[in-house]
Amino acid sequence: MTATIIDGKAIAKRVRQEVKAEVAELTAAGVQPGLATVLVGDDPASATYVRNKNKRATKLGFHSVHHHLPADTSQAALCDLVDTLNSDDAVDGILVQLPLPSQIDADPVLDRIDPAKDVDGLHPDNVGRLVAGAPRLVPCTPQGCVRLLDEAGAELKGARAVIVGRSMLVGKPLAHLLLARHCTVTLCHSRTRALDEEVARAEIVVAAAGSAGLVRGEWIRPGAYVIDVGTNHTEDGTLVGDVDFEGACARAAAITPVPGGVGPMTIAMLLVNTVRAARLRRGK
Ligand code: NAP
Repeated sequence: MTATIIDGKAIAKRVRQEVKAEVAELTAAGVQPGLATVLVGDDPASATYVRNKNKRATKLGFHSVHHHLPADTSQAALCDLVDTLNSDDAVDGILVQLPLPSQIDADPVLDRIDPAKDVDGLHPDNVGRLVAGAPRLVPCTPQGCVRLLDEAGAELKGARAVIVGRSMLVGKPLAHLLLARHCTVTLCHSRTRALDEEVARAEIVVAAAGSAGLVRGEWIRPGAYVIDVGTNHTEDGTLVGDVDFEGACARAAAITPVPGGVGPMTIAMLLVNTVRAARLRRGK
């Protein structure tokens, strides 16, 4: 078997087209969705991510504002900015780019964001709603993974899904999304015994560990759908995922590449969340 490559770039482009149409419709109805991004410090990777998010938002017709604070910003000053954005009616979504400098404790900052504007889906209120089976704003990367599986034609109902990684950002929310779609979900992590056996049972494999080549090709069950969330830089600077791509291609039904798989979907889903937040806040 040679796997179908799931083209995240092309799917993300379609998602952005859908978003653009929704933004135009809302704007015509007098509600231009707004996204505020906040960057603290000068980490080059974070600066690039935020720039891309803003660029996309502006291009699709959002009201888009960016706040760049110095690296020595205090916890209190960042919380003050969050408060200002919470009360700004033109802002529907607030994204504070992580990681934050060491003098700032991220959790109280994220908890301070109005849950109705929490387009990263990391506020305890939104986490709780997802776990309770009544999601409102859901983290972007897991949402992107589910959309990729749907676009690839994976049958989720009743499928055995194995997720490698249990972070709040990816593994845990994805487990709840897949559970809601009636998968039988196994969450694996660094203490999991016999990871190979867990992966080998799975019809759906999602690798989100941040460990290059962790998931070996021969572990993949023939016909499985494989989503590789991992982003790892090799010594020569090449970007690779957590899955042995060549090996997995020989067994999987479909697989995402790195780059060009999950990555483009994450930003697209942030824009989906911002439109959703705008609709929910304004009762549209
Ligand atoms: P994280 O917070 O570091 O979590 C990693 C998870 O993987 C942990 O649960 C850890 O287990 C588990 N793990 C690590 N090594 C393992 C191993 N050898 N065997 C089994 N489990 C192992 O990372 P994250 O934020 O979820 O991100 C994961 C990866 O996805 C990273 O490469 C990140 O860059 C990438 N990512 C990509 C996107 C995108 O848009 N493309 C978005 C988000 C993340 P423990 O809990 O036991 O420590």
